[in-house]
Amino acid sequence: MSTAGWHRQSVAERRAMLTEILAQVSSEALQGDSLEAVLKRIVDCLVARLPVTIASIILLNESQTHFVQEVWSGELDLELPAELPWPVELGAAGRCVRSGEAQLIADVRSDPDYVPGNSRVSSEYLVPIIHRGCLHGVLNLESTEARFFTREVRAAFDAIAVQIAGAVHLACVVRELEVANRKLQQLSMSDGLTGIANRRCFDERLAAEWSTHLRAKRPLALLLVDVDCFKLLNDARGHLHGDECLRDLADICTEAIGTKESLVARFGGEEFAVLLPGCDLRTARRVGEGLRQYIDEMELPHPTSTVSDHVTVSVGISAIKPRASQRCEVLIETADRALYQAKSRGRNRVVARSVPMQGVSR
Ligand code: GH3
Ligand code: MG
Ligand code: MG
Repeated sequence: MSTAGWHRQSVAERRAMLTEILAQVSSEALQGDSLEAVLKRIVDCLVARLPVTIASIILLNESQTHFVQEVWSGELDLELPAELPWPVELGAAGRCVRSGEAQLIADVRSDPDYVPGNSRVSSEYLVPIIHRGCLHGVLNLESTEARFFTREVRAAFDAIAVQIAGAVHLACVVRELEVANRKLQQLSMSDGLTGIANRRCFDERLAAEWSTHLRAKRPLALLLVDVDCFKLLNDARGHLHGDECLRDLADICTEAIGTKESLVARFGGEEFAVLLPGCDLRTARRVGEGLRQYIDEMELPHPTSTVSDHVTVSVGISAIKPRASQRCEVLIETADRALYQAKSRGRNRVVARSVPMQGVSR
């Protein structure tokens, strides 16, 4: 709105307009939308409905040393001298932050801190954006009209700054919740001891891959990798050493398999599962044999193993082109059966079985 238009209105009309704008800003502030979009709508509203040439919201970094984000609306006809980030030692906005108080500049030409953006601007009002004692930034308003920022108008902008503070706080809370949720999601899917995928993650991924491979008519393979004589290692070296060994094995499996599509998970106890999407039984057997040998060559000490003087594993392998008549659990049952055979044939070996058409026999 033009300065003349504003002054043509009666006191009551101006008051009604300020109240209306405040209500609009409040409802914008509660949208919980992207913060930048909310702030932009607020500054656009202030410029459109009031004799404000430039309206901007300048946000601080967490340590309140620099302005790091600016959302503005209005008419600039001068190059702004400083780019963000902008230290709070500079400018009238910086002074507002340093003092923690609103700044009324009745004549910008006589203020050494004023940073000009439009040559016609004559007055400026800056309000700190504070939520529960925490300073988030500054609401900056510039007008070509020297007498625009009356006490009543300033009070309205003070209230608008409070609404903006609420919006910024809401955005911070939403951001923190999103980060916490991502962390929780990650924790719920990973194994506390080894840091690799846990059983829940494995089960979800198996079900998803089963459906995908059923549609694509592609094979899916599973390795069940079980440490040989692990109880004896715990008994000889203690449970904490056993834990350390499981962590090493999780790293070794991840390193040895490590493709983007495959999944290495802790299946339970001293057993790991490796899901190999797109792999048929022959390829899976080669991968399983490679992994068994790799672990063997690592020579992690196992003084009481009945198989070797170091840690070895037995691997049960299954593969299938998923069939609509079967459930994904048949892959586990078959690999488990193969693992049992690897154990009974002397351990430190690989046994591979394709999934039978009907169920799994022992
Ligand atoms: P096999 O060659 O037949 O697989 O013999 P094993 O001793 O490895 O198998 P068994 O099932 O008899 O014992 C598994 C052991 O793994 C017993 C259990 O205490 C140990 N274990 C399971 N989870 C953990 C763990 O998180 N940390 C440690 N240190 N030990 C574990
Ligand atoms: Mg076991
Ligand atoms: Mg074992």
